[in-house]
Amino acid sequence: MATIYQGKYEAVIGLEIHVQLDTASKLFCGDSTRFGAAPNTHISPVTLALPGTLPKINKKAIEYAVRLGLACQCEIMPYNFFARKNYFYPDLPKGWQTTQHTHPICMGGSVPIKTEEGARLVKMHHIHLEEDAGKSIHDIYADQSCVDLNRAGTPLVEIVSEPDMFSADEAWNYVQELRRLVRWIGVSDANMEEGSLRCDANVSIRPAGDPKLGTRVEVKNLNSTRNIKRAIDYEIDRMIRLVESGEAVKQQTRSFDAANGTTFAIRDKEEANDYRYFPEPDLPPIQLSEDFIENIKAAMPALPQELTALYQSDYGLSEYDAEQLVSEKEISVYFEQVIQHTDNYKAVANWIGGPIRSIMNEQHIPIDQTGIPPGSLAALILLVTEGKLNFSVASTKLLAAVRENPGASPLDLARQLNLLQTDDTDLLEDWIKQALESMPDKVEAYRKGKKGLIGLFVGEVKKRSKGKADPQKVMDMLKEKLDESTNNC
Ligand code: ADP
Ligand code: MG
Repeated sequence: MATIYQGKYEAVIGLEIHVQLDTASKLFCGDSTRFGAAPNTHISPVTLALPGTLPKINKKAIEYAVRLGLACQCEIMPYNFFARKNYFYPDLPKGWQTTQHTHPICMGGSVPIKTEEGARLVKMHHIHLEEDAGKSIHDIYADQSCVDLNRAGTPLVEIVSEPDMFSADEAWNYVQELRRLVRWIGVSDANMEEGSLRCDANVSIRPAGDPKLGTRVEVKNLNSTRNIKRAIDYEIDRMIRLVESGEAVKQQTRSFDAANGTTFAIRDKEEANDYRYFPEPDLPPIQLSEDFIENIKAAMPALPQELTALYQSDYGLSEYDAEQLVSEKEISVYFEQVIQHTDNYKAVANWIGGPIRSIMNEQHIPIDQTGIPPGSLAALILLVTEGKLNFSVASTKLLAAVRENPGASPLDLARQLNLLQTDDTDLLEDWIKQALESMPDKVEAYRKGKKGLIGLFVGEVKKRSKGKADPQKVMDMLKEKLDESTNNC
């Protein structure tokens, strides 16, 4: 069910997403694709399309496009080919972009998203391969523009959805899912800040329930998932205001201005380009063998949705836990390493979702850089479940020590740092006595029936013991002591 705006409109959104493929070299020659190199250092005569040069297709790029197609349940088209899309632009040295047009490599397919009404599939139209252009840079000199052609010829896939999303939230969700998926299957780092995932949003509105599509605008220049959402919401609102005031929506290409959250027209449909497409004469059509496709299929990792189901059925985890474990591929890999050492699956999920996630967020690092050996996490969990250590000491002090000494055993570290919970009753008695003496009025109130204060006393003892007192034991001893003194009254 679509979101209904102002009681009578619904929005329709289709996304065109460009993803840079993580190949070492460009789509049609051996130039490096590395990001951040000195300007114009990765440009051979082929990238510049100097006379007499011939392109040669990068097999890895084809493999990656097929892998993505398989991950999205597309139909892989064994016969596909490139065309020339002719236009002039300073960052396009060839004068045309080599792109698949009438015969893309993948057709159809879908991406699973979560909506307020539950999970559903967003339909895709196709995926095609194309080369990237260079970059025009306008912010170095006040009165001149610079061109860096390093990016020219980098392989891209363009993933074109059907007009099958009905709110900015759904579009946001779709981009998140697709980004996770391309990273998951290792075809791109999908880093929006570096431009390796770019999105154009097509937006239209129509009377709620009308099967006919309304006139769309295409919004470009969306460089973060947050901006995709902002731009779509702005457009829906702008279009509704137009229609409400009796005007028609014009088919336009617009650009998003992130500074003030608005969009502005860059061209109308009447000015649409005629690209004079024709099949690229310098590249033979691609004919994929069945073996080639089957080998890619065989090497495909288990996808997030499959693992979410598996973690619930095999390890008894909740949907929430399972989902956070598959939020990134590295996290699920780490989870699976830790459970080689323990079958306390729930505790592993809690540690990953709690203390480890905090470290990742605070230090902006992925899980494989947190420096916690999987076996050590399992050992930490065991120390807590055996009652040798309380969770808060384990997840702060001992976890920090493990990260500093990843080679040492957590039990040895806990001993060295004197963190293990104590069984020494005299010591516990002492802390309890100090705690109760520090708040005589609360003790008095407890005796008069405010039994809820027991938590406060336990907390005070924990504090005095610096976490070394086993809370359950303290609770038992406190009750015995306080009730005994109540009886004595
Ligand atoms: P282009 O002219 O940009 O090559 P297409 O017609 O193939 O266009 O559409 C490009 C994108 O626009 C697709 O993702 C498609 O789903 C989306 N789209 C097409 N029509 C509409 C519409 N009326 N409202 C929203 N999205 C649309
Ligand atoms: Mg388009």
